[in-house]
Amino acid sequence: MFEASGGNELYRPTFRSEIVRRLYFKSVKHGGALSAWQHGDIDINWPLVARLAELAYRCNLCRRCAQTCPIGADNGLVAHELRKLLSQELGINAKECHDNGSVLQLKVGSSTGMSSLVVKDNIEFIDEDMMDRTGIKVETPWDVEGADVLLIHNAGEILAWPENPGAFALILSAAGIKWTLSSELAGYDSINYGLWYDDAQFARVAIKHAQAAKKLGVKKIVLGECGHAHKALSVIADRVLTGDLNIPRESSMTLLRDIVMNGRLTLDPSRNAFPVTLHDPCNLVRLMGVVEPQREIVRKICPEFREMEPHGVDNYCCGGGSGFAIMSGNNFQDWRFHVSGRKKMEQVLNAFADCMDPSINKYICAPCSNCKGQFRDMLAYYDLWNKNRILYGGLVELIVNCMVDAKPGFIDWEWH
Ligand code: SF4
Ligand code: SF4
Repeated sequence: MFEASGGNELYRPTFRSEIVRRLYFKSVKHGGALSAWQHGDIDINWPLVARLAELAYRCNLCRRCAQTCPIGADNGLVAHELRKLLSQELGINAKECHDNGSVLQLKVGSSTGMSSLVVKDNIEFIDEDMMDRTGIKVETPWDVEGADVLLIHNAGEILAWPENPGAFALILSAAGIKWTLSSELAGYDSINYGLWYDDAQFARVAIKHAQAAKKLGVKKIVLGECGHAHKALSVIADRVLTGDLNIPRESSMTLLRDIVMNGRLTLDPSRNAFPVTLHDPCNLVRLMGVVEPQREIVRKICPEFREMEPHGVDNYCCGGGSGFAIMSGNNFQDWRFHVSGRKKMEQVLNAFADCMDPSINKYICAPCSNCKGQFRDMLAYYDLWNKNRILYGGLVELIVNCMVDAKPGFIDWEWH
């Protein structure tokens, strides 16, 4: 952020931490003149609080700064704690995360506003579409008691990228997995925006997810392609889901890796003979350590795979992290296009530097719903589909695209 802003001091990772540090010594430790001389003085007033609130939402919580700091100072965590304080103590938060996010999800079941009836309708339509596109009949199972896997998608996929849940259904069914979706409140939407701003909202949603799994008596929960949902339910919810709510949780990356690498599908990598690069969602990769499973898959099924530099745990955020991708108010779109997303776009262009000609279709594999939203908006803003034929999508689409049993051409080389 600091680099992409042209070195604006406001966005130096330590800037907001320094304010918090001074506030701590003055207002919590009640430091006097000596403390002010030693730690720096500061006055708490409304303009300061308002500017801190603004600054807490100019960090995408990628925590790359903690990784490079020699003493491990975690300025991303400071920004996160600020967001929590602002929401939990002062009721200040982003409406996209709170009113239209966790509040709506707890009320109707999904932050998309979809009830379970609407989701079921949509999934039925997606199943039919999958049959048309691949020639393989698929019927998504609902509320199967005792299933091995409860798959929870980011429900945004169902609306924005229906081919993603469709591809999951094709793969899990073809691999013979006993799986199910849940129609319980929040059981069909893995989103947990509380992760970004409010622990109480976070806990409420995480408990709903676990209760949906417990009700069905499934063996484990598998998270679809959504980075923040991964970290929310697998890692952070550890503090909340105790006792009989502590149901095993697994990443879809490892399940898919096991399916692909164990030969449970017949695949023809030559169907994926186009340049592919892989985006590392911060929550999934740097913050959870899920680095290799998705790479094993793309190395096996994408003959023209190339890494971005840097990649893996050293990746750059897509620029839509921590809720930016769903925020459109104030100047957030400008911010995403001109500041927070710049590093990632530079990486993408470098990864495809040898094949920029528009006669060559190129694919950014981004196994995260939030990141895909950011890629969609960035590619559209810079017109990179029309100019250079750079498309984006998930991992499961690449797998289905090379399934021998499916009709060729699953990936739709059209802008969407
Ligand atoms: S110690 Fe860490 S947080 Fe502080 S200035 Fe150095 S790198 Fe930045
Ligand atoms: S967490 Fe990421 S965006 Fe936030 S200050 Fe650190 S490097 Fe910058």
